[in-house]
Amino acid sequence: MRIYIDGQYYSKEDAKVSVFDHGFLYGDGVFEGIRAYNGRVFRLKQHVDRLYESAAAIHLSIPTSRPDLCRSVVETVRANEIRDGYIRLIVSRGPGDLGLDPRQCPTPSIIIIAGKIQLYPKECYDSGIEILTCATRRNRPDALNPAIKSLNYLNNILAKIEVSTAHSEKKPRLLEGLMLNADGKVAECTGDNIFYVTGGGLHTPPPSDGILRGVTRQAVLELAREAGIPVVEQSCTQLDLYAAEECFLTGTGAEMIPVVQIDDRPIGDGQPGPVTQQLRARFAALVAAEGVRVYAE
Ligand code: PMP
Repeated sequence: MRIYIDGQYYSKEDAKVSVFDHGFLYGDGVFEGIRAYNGRVFRLKQHVDRLYESAAAIHLSIPTSRPDLCRSVVETVRANEIRDGYIRLIVSRGPGDLGLDPRQCPTPSIIIIAGKIQLYPKECYDSGIEILTCATRRNRPDALNPAIKSLNYLNNILAKIEVSTAHSEKKPRLLEGLMLNADGKVAECTGDNIFYVTGGGLHTPPPSDGILRGVTRQAVLELAREAGIPVVEQSCTQLDLYAAEECFLTGTGAEMIPVVQIDDRPIGDGQPGPVTQQLRARFAALVAAEGVRVYAE
């Protein structure tokens, strides 16, 4: 494995950051998870744009241009000879002192790791997963806006611990947690956006309800519009989900995964539904065809 740190490649063993890096000390930094399919990097520009937006939100100036950063991502994928994989792009505040003040960290660090990911068991993509509503609420946008993809993921981790605590041999498909916002509205899952189908329309919470604006979410919204499926971005409650005909999650790691049970209630007939299946097929075709080429073909 060849890991990119500030313009140099290191082996897995030698890829190290300072214990004084505020990314480590305080979760002070931003990141992206990006996917390569079929030798192409999916929606690289959208991920890099979101990274710059997250960085701007935390007053972090990324010490390179967007095109150069895109090139470094592609080069790292190539250096690792990956055709299908997962890329972690991180910009941390960089080494400073033990105080909070980021002005003590003059040099942000850029790190790129290209590897593999398998978030959910393969069979779940056909049979669907179960989710539960977590007691942990999503961060309030006026405290730490979930639209910022920061290195501080403790809110999501606390919710994920609730899921793994409830996961058991009797509940092998219980693999994700639904997070409500402070008003009790549905926000998103610990690492994915949520969609549901009702009356033939595709519904998902709006960004104003405190979610990460997922790159996969955006791609699925585009695919639904192309397919003539009405799309509604509107606040919703757990009850809307319980009464839905279909439900699924989207994320770079998760891709598109059907949800067939929420809080022990079956969704629809308890099987992945036709709209979900149609969109999954369209999504698979999209990722195979689109993206920035890594290798000369
Ligand atoms: N919400 C959260 C909290 C996430 O961490 C992620 C990414 N794993 C998503 C949604 C999905 O975003 P994307 O489709 O851009 O990966």
